Amino acid sequence: MKIKKGDNVLVITGKNRGKTGKVVTVDPAKSTVKIAGVNIMKRHLKARRNQPGGITEIISPLPASKVMFVCSHCGNKPVRLGYKLSATNTKERICKVCKSTV
Ligand SMILES: [Zn+2]
Repeated sequence: MKIKKGDNVLVITGKNRGKTGKVVTVDPAKSTVKIAGVNIMKRHLKARRNQPGGITEIISPLPASKVMFVCSHCGNKPVRLGYKLSATNTKERICKVCKSTV
């Protein structure tokens, strides 16, 4: 999957459509991403001996296919990513619009 931790992404579908944020976690096995400030769920916790009860907010993962990478070189537009081989033969991600390495 092309999205990596720390990327700025735009949610393109679902109830969070149009929101942008930074990827905080990726799960390659499930192809999901967690985005800071997007898809927050409230968990009601029962008080236990070691911790007080209450409501905490957790980020719920979104499928990676529902987000698009936001390219800072293209004026923060959502773009598709491609791969190219660098001079040292490592795979680099490139923006398909401006061809810059991201
Ligand atoms: Zn670009």
